[in-house]
Amino acid sequence: MSIKKNLLKILDDLPKEIILVAVSKTKSNEEIMEAYKVGQRVFGENKIQEMALKWSELPKDIEWHMIGHVQTNKVKYMSEFVSLIHGVDSLKLLKEINKQAIKHNRKINCLLQMHIAQEQTKFGLNEKELFELIDSYEFGNLKNVNVKGLMGMATFTDNEVQIRKEFSYLNSIYLKLKNRIPDLNVLSMGMSGDYRIAIQQGSTMVRIGSSIFGIRNN
Ligand SMILES: *Cc1c(COP(=O)(O)O)cnc(C)c1O
Repeated sequence: MSIKKNLLKILDDLPKEIILVAVSKTKSNEEIMEAYKVGQRVFGENKIQEMALKWSELPKDIEWHMIGHVQTNKVKYMSEFVSLIHGVDSLKLLKEINKQAIKHNRKINCLLQMHIAQEQTKFGLNEKELFELIDSYEFGNLKNVNVKGLMGMATFTDNEVQIRKEFSYLNSIYLKLKNRIPDLNVLSMGMSGDYRIAIQQGSTMVRIGSSIFGIRNN
């Protein structure tokens, strides 16, 4: 199937209020432009330098989302243009994003990444760490970062009950946080294999790569 057909099929399947991040990591400009021509404008990358290169070469009305783990020393390469950083999981990183945002006289939208999966290797905060961060004096002083919501990844498993439980847990934390910060409007959860479950559990934004662009070789 072509990228165009894949994308149209996904769009047809998504409720219209759900935002689709087309995950284009490792994919070429030509492949991205196939999705762009169908009307897709939101793309997700997991390597900052790769995203910066694509930003410099592709149409400027593309919204670039950083969905991967972010190293503090690389924030500067995307601070001019990134439209949403999904994987923020420390105050240190938020402070650096704030600092770089000030340099560019803008506000940078961020999601706080939660650890909900059973795997040890994934990044993210637990519930206690999330509320400690939100309640900290320093967080209150970060005027150039806009926390829009939460992001999380479920365990990589075929067990749908497990996946549903993890997404439902993330949604419950999101709703608690929204009580404190009513402006939140993004719950980023769901990938090619589990986005339907994620939407049933309250996702507002899905990050889909292989179901649009085909499997990645690297
Ligand atoms: C690669 C990636 C995705 C997309 O995964 P697919 O299974 O290809 O849809 C989503 N979220 C994150 C954080 C990723 O790194």
